[in-house]
Amino acid sequence: MEYDVIIIGAGPGGIFSAIELINKMPKIKVAIFEAGNSLDCRKCPIDGKKVKSCINCKTCSIMSGFGGAGAFSDGKYNITNDFGGTLYEYIGKERALELMHYVDEINLRHGGEGTKLYSTAGTKFKKVCIQHDLHLLDASVRHLGTDVNYVVLNNLYLELKEKVDFYFNTPVKTIKIIENGYEIECKEGKFACHKCIVSVGRSGSKWMENICKELDIPVQSNRVDIGVRVELPAEVFTDLTDELYESKIVYCTKKYGDKVRTFCMNPRGIVVNENTNGIITVNGHSYEDSSKQTNNTNFALLVSKTFSEPFKDSNGYGEAIAKLSNMLGGGVIVQRFGDLVRGRRSTPKRISDAFITPTLQATPGDLSLVLPKRILDGIIEMIYALDKVAPGTANDDTLLYGVEVKFYTMHVEVDNNLETRYKGLYIIGDGSGVTHSLSQASASGIYVAQEIIESMK
Ligand SMILES: Cc1cc2nc3c(=O)[nH]c(=O)nc-3n(C[C@H](O)[C@H](O)[C@H](O)COP(=O)(O)OP(=O)(O)OC[C@H]3O[C@@H](n4cnc5c(N)ncnc54)[C@H](O)[C@@H]3O)c2cc1C
Repeated sequence: MEYDVIIIGAGPGGIFSAIELINKMPKIKVAIFEAGNSLDCRKCPIDGKKVKSCINCKTCSIMSGFGGAGAFSDGKYNITNDFGGTLYEYIGKERALELMHYVDEINLRHGGEGTKLYSTAGTKFKKVCIQHDLHLLDASVRHLGTDVNYVVLNNLYLELKEKVDFYFNTPVKTIKIIENGYEIECKEGKFACHKCIVSVGRSGSKWMENICKELDIPVQSNRVDIGVRVELPAEVFTDLTDELYESKIVYCTKKYGDKVRTFCMNPRGIVVNENTNGIITVNGHSYEDSSKQTNNTNFALLVSKTFSEPFKDSNGYGEAIAKLSNMLGGGVIVQRFGDLVRGRRSTPKRISDAFITPTLQATPGDLSLVLPKRILDGIIEMIYALDKVAPGTANDDTLLYGVEVKFYTMHVEVDNNLETRYKGLYIIGDGSGVTHSLSQASASGIYVAQEIIESMK
């Protein structure tokens, strides 16, 4: 065997597995295979001048490479079992929280010290929200910010590269079961290991599906979240964001009883494009460094959809909606809330006349031609509900970017050790469908590393 452990994917799941393995078992032989680039070589070619929109690079530097999908994210580590995945269903609530705190400590030791930990505990907003039929979820959130998140990742890499063999730009093609372990195949050849941790995130979801088919590992379809990214003057949300930074608020619509929730709040941040398998959707992030901050705050409003019979492909449904916005807008569409409720499209003039400057260049258009009525009605209802706790949310000039889609990998059947039906083959992080956040993906990495260490004693 060349390696004791091979890790596929250098996102948070893979990185934290490796950190725990090398720290607790200094002699262990570990390799990480990553489809994307090393951190310093990750560069999205969109510069707003020569390259204005996505040119569909072979591997997307935003989603792939050391640091995974979260490398240029806002670096919000939500320490909670209330959202961000269902790791607790496998390992228990207490252990899940304990591991998320453990991840936080590692981040602090690697450059995150001095960043703020916000908490909903004891906040007056819980009461204010409930009075308006809005529900604030419990969480602590460590906000690293895009800049500090990068520093932490770089420090983790410097520590890892001394003890781990890295293979960048090396997508793994297949995983084969061999005697006493696994053999992976990639462009460099074949490599054998005793244990294999698969942590390929959302960008590896299609590949993951094929591997599960080949190895006959059962999977189940997951949900898809569809909605818009809201951008408004930062002042509108400062009461909430100054105290909580990120508030996850859930609203149940009167019209259909659907749940609409806020997601990924970025005070004084920017709205960005996201590319998933060539489909352009919208996302957002913000910087800890005040010189890089903007006058706007953005967050997503999302509605979850799950399909069962006869149609099961939740992601396919989300993709079709995103493709429609790409067809009409050449990418992401932006619309003023006032235009949306009046049933008219936003034009470049209406956007430039608005009292808010968009932070993403998107095509002015009409989101009602893209989003299903039920989803759009829910979003509009929630904007009016939010207006009661953050007056100004429902202003005409509030910008809505569409579409925001959160794709989830199908649920892969793993046991309470996050191990498949094959001993020593673990599937973790967002690629397993178990997690969908930095904290929980990282915690799942630590968890399997500790399981492996225990089994090797
Ligand atoms: C713009 C953006 C902002 C975000 N902001 C936040 C946030 O603030 N807070 C939060 O909690 N979450 C955030 N997220 C989500 C968060 O990034 C993910 O939940 C997290 O990165 C999942 O970690 P992971 O290790 O499971 O997968 P990933 O981070 O997706 O990493 C998987 C890695 O595997 C590689 N890979 C895929 N297939 C293969 C293969 N066949 N062979 C080799 N390598 C492969 C990929 O290139 C990738 O680098 C954000 C996501 C995006 C895109």
